Amino acid sequence: MGAIIRTENLSYVYNPAMPDATTAISDISFEMQEHEFLGIIGPTGCGKSTLITHFNGLMRPTSGKVLIDGQDIWADKKEIRKFRFLTGLVFQYPEYQLFEETVEKDIGYGPRNMGLSPQEVDERVRMAADFCGLAPEMLSRSPFELSGGQKRRVAIAGVIAMRPRLLVLDEPAAGLDPEGRDTILEQIKSYHRETGTSVVLVSHSMEDVAKYADKVLVMKDGGIAMYDTTQQIFARAQELLDIGLSVPQITKVFLRLREMGLAIDTDVYTVKYAAETVLRFAEGGDGDAS
Ligand code: ADP
Repeated sequence: MGAIIRTENLSYVYNPAMPDATTAISDISFEMQEHEFLGIIGPTGCGKSTLITHFNGLMRPTSGKVLIDGQDIWADKKEIRKFRFLTGLVFQYPEYQLFEETVEKDIGYGPRNMGLSPQEVDERVRMAADFCGLAPEMLSRSPFELSGGQKRRVAIAGVIAMRPRLLVLDEPAAGLDPEGRDTILEQIKSYHRETGTSVVLVSHSMEDVAKYADKVLVMKDGGIAMYDTTQQIFARAQELLDIGLSVPQITKVFLRLREMGLAIDTDVYTVKYAAETVLRFAEGGDGDAS
């Protein structure tokens, strides 16, 4: 098992040589192991979307490299297509890109473009629809008759149907009600669990990232502020607040306890772990918080 994606000193400048040139990301070096679930988080405008759009070669670095399986994807410009299908990008509000007359055709659009046989396309459409909680009878309907949450799921299914090795989702739950959010994120998590596909979830919600990601990349001003396991990131909850990110309610409770003078760990981000931490603390086993 190696790094599925790696960047080396990756920088991107919008409108270079113009008065409004903007350095969106600067000198980003990190790698992600295959099969991981990575959360990318940071305030609006910190460069999250710019970074992930490099993962399948849609954007070409101003400087630095993007490597997939250790191969520089821009080493030979003619070969870039090979990498396009390895990474599946789900953009923000992907439902605006639905256009076919049926859900089935929309989900099958990507696989058809890959030149797969009709039978293979059909299998993939069914598999992807199932993962996204779309009942078979929905396949013959027009995507435009569906609810917002259902449309979003059709769009995500369309990317899953291409079976990318790396699935990258930019704010997949944005604009949905709390129930719709949970449903979509749970489906993505179980897709990850069942297929082992590497997943990158871009979000501005620490709560979502805490719940689903194994590792977290925190971005700030176009660079990396932190990159570690979810647990280690939450051990630095105060720094997250300083960057302008909100932390889960439960983490705030523990930060407050610490402020009040209790030597308790603050790397708490789920209610279950909170209970364990309190019990440990009460037993005096872990009073020496790091
Ligand atoms: P995020 O996804 O974290 O909100 P973005 O990658 O969208 O951040 O943006 C990073 C920076 O690049 C911001 O300063 C933003 O204004 C700028 N930017 C993004 N897209 C463009 C564009 N098409 N042209 C010029 N500047 C852009």
